[in-house]
Amino acid sequence: MISYHDIATGLQDLGLNRSTPVLAHISLANLGEVKGGLNTVTGALLATVDNVMMPSFTFSTMVIPESGPEENLMVYGSGRETNLAAEVFSHDLPSDMPDSEASEALRGYPGVYRSGHPVFSFTGLGLDVALVNHPAEDPYAPISELRKLDGWVLLMGAEPSANFSVHYAEKLAGRKQFTHWALSAEGIHEIPHYPGCSDGFHKLHYYMQEELHTVRVADSYWHAMKVDTLLNVAVALIKEDAFALLCNNLNCPRCNLERASIKAQYSHQWRPESQT
Ligand SMILES: [Zn+2]
Repeated sequence: MISYHDIATGLQDLGLNRSTPVLAHISLANLGEVKGGLNTVTGALLATVDNVMMPSFTFSTMVIPESGPEENLMVYGSGRETNLAAEVFSHDLPSDMPDSEASEALRGYPGVYRSGHPVFSFTGLGLDVALVNHPAEDPYAPISELRKLDGWVLLMGAEPSANFSVHYAEKLAGRKQFTHWALSAEGIHEIPHYPGCSDGFHKLHYYMQEELHTVRVADSYWHAMKVDTLLNVAVALIKEDAFALLCNNLNCPRCNLERASIKAQYSHQWRPESQT
C-alpha cells in the first residue's frame, strides 16, 4: 500500500516542484492500493505542485453529420438515433474518459477553471492563462500555452497512450488528423485536428532518453517530461520517419489510414529520374 509520503517523494524524484506547471494524467487503477485513496493522491500532488491541469474530456458530446470530408473513418448519416442521445457540453458536464477519477476530483476543488472545448476540455488550478482560450477548432491550445510556461507532462501510472500532448506534436509535424463534430450550447462545432491512434506512443519514451524522468512507486511507473522537449523530440521523430509512433496492430483502421495517406503522398511526389 502506498502512502501520501510515497507519492510526494515520487513526484519530487521526478523533478517536479512548486513552480512547475503540470499537465497530469493519473490512472488511479494502476497506482495500486493507496492509503486514503483518491484524496491522498490529489492531496499529495497539490502539495507538490501549485499549478496543475488534467483532462476532463467529454466524448458524449459528439455527433455524426449526414456528410463530411472523405478518409475520415466516419459513416456519415449513421448517427440519426445516437445523435439524439448526445450531451450538450457545459462546464458542469462530467468527464466520460477512462481514468477520470482524479480529474473529476480536481473539478470539485474551489478555484479551478475548466476550459471550453466541447470534447477536449481541461480542468486546472492556477492555470487559467492556459485554459481561458480553448476554441473548438484548436484542441491543443492549452498545451501550446503550457509549453510557453515551461510546463511538464506527468504520467502517474497512466499509460504512454494517455499522453495527449503527443497528438499536438502530430499536428505540428503535419500528420493527418480527423474531423469530428460536437455539441455545445452555441450549437454544433466542427473539431478539426481530432487525434488519431495513440497506441504506439510508448515508442516515444526510447527517444526521449534522459529527458524522460521515471520513478517506480510500488508496482507502477511514473514519468515526467518537459512539454517543450516532448514536442521537439516527437516532431523531429515524425519528420524523420513519417510512420513513427503509429501502432503495430495491423488491423488498426486509424493507423492504416495514416499509412495509406503517407504512401499516397510519397507516390504523388515521386518522379522517375528521367523526367526530372
Ligand atoms: Zn493504431
